[in-house]
Amino acid sequence: MIKITVGVLALQGAFHEHVVLLKKAAASLVSQQASSSHWEFLEVRTPQELERCDALVLPGGESTAISLVAARSNLLDPLRDFVKVHRKPTWGTCAGLILLAESANRTKKGGQELIGGLDVRVNRNHFGRQTESFQAPLELPFLSTSDESESPFPAVFIRAPVVEKILPHQNGVQEGEAQRDETVVAPSRQAESEAARKAMSTEVEVLASLPGRAARLAVNGNSIRADEETGDIVAVRQGNVFGTSFHPELTGDERIHSWWLRQVEDSMKRLQ
Ligand code: GLN
Repeated sequence: MIKITVGVLALQGAFHEHVVLLKKAAASLVSQQASSSHWEFLEVRTPQELERCDALVLPGGESTAISLVAARSNLLDPLRDFVKVHRKPTWGTCAGLILLAESANRTKKGGQELIGGLDVRVNRNHFGRQTESFQAPLELPFLSTSDESESPFPAVFIRAPVVEKILPHQNGVQEGEAQRDETVVAPSRQAESEAARKAMSTEVEVLASLPGRAARLAVNGNSIRADEETGDIVAVRQGNVFGTSFHPELTGDERIHSWWLRQVEDSMKRLQ
């Protein structure tokens, strides 16, 4: 039996809800015999607590506040090492996704720092101020097994970012991005081992998008242009790093937590 310690960064935001749902998801996996690991969950506020973790969740909240407190707690560099040097499984939701992006716009230079790990640019507060929050049924094909398709996920968006651009993979700072106005980029890090380097050279996979503008117009009887169909990218994965724009921890629906824990367990088994 392997022991897996999963941390949730607990500086600000919806960290408690993640811990509750992770525990629930792990208990279901164990009781259904879908996991034989011994799971432990830990709120992370110090570099010492981070060191104990095999995997980490960065919650939603306010990315500027989280990065500020992380800097004051001397956690920013250990977090970058965790994600980009040791390449441990890390999942960011909403503000957490912003922190894991290599580039974030609508951010004053010096206003916040990024951890990075995902070669994407996020657009903060994408859905604007009037419609800051909404819930939408979201198709998540990655949750489906070959013989069973899943019902849509009740995705909660609160002043959510979206991935507005997938960047070319770069083993260093996204220089082109650094030139842009109101855009911050993450500092570079080198992977520590061959396996970690491989995880880092993986392409960004788009795991989910909200139906595009054209699809919404089509409901009103207008014609659709295929190139407008892509929609807003709201879930991505690149190697060990997973990011969602929405808040699965606020719904009580444990499917994504359970899927991610299985990914963590698989990657731990590969390392053994
Ligand atoms: N808009 C917030 C930010 O920029 C994210 C909101 C959230 O995590 N719900 O950090």
